Parts: sequence; C-alpha cells; structure tokens
Amino acid sequence: MRKFIDPVCGKRININKAHIVIHYQGEDYYICCPQCQSEFEKNPKKYVHKTKDK
Ligand SMILES: [Zn+2]
Repeated sequence: MRKFIDPVCGKRININKAHIVIHYQGEDYYICCPQCQSEFEKNPKKYVHKTKDK
C-alpha cells in the first residue's frame, strides 16, 4: 500500500486514514489531522516542498 507524508508534521500516513486531501498547485497533499490541515492552510508555501525529494 502506498504511503504518503503529511507535509506539516512529517508523519507517514496511510492514504485510507488521511484526514483530508488538499489539492494545491496541482499536487495532492495528505493531511493526518484537523490541526495539520489548518496549519497547512495558514501557510501552504511553507509546506509544499516537504514531500518532494528535490
Ligand atoms: Zn499531521
């Protein structure tokens, strides 16, 4: 099963257990909890690169 990284807290999350999927600038970000969601939405630019290798 594919794993995704929550860009806010850095946790690996199961796609089926993701709290929410945020679509931002053509990418999907998997968020584990409401706290991380509001954090992401406050400052998305801070987090969008965290799930990239480069
Ligand atoms: Zn999180």
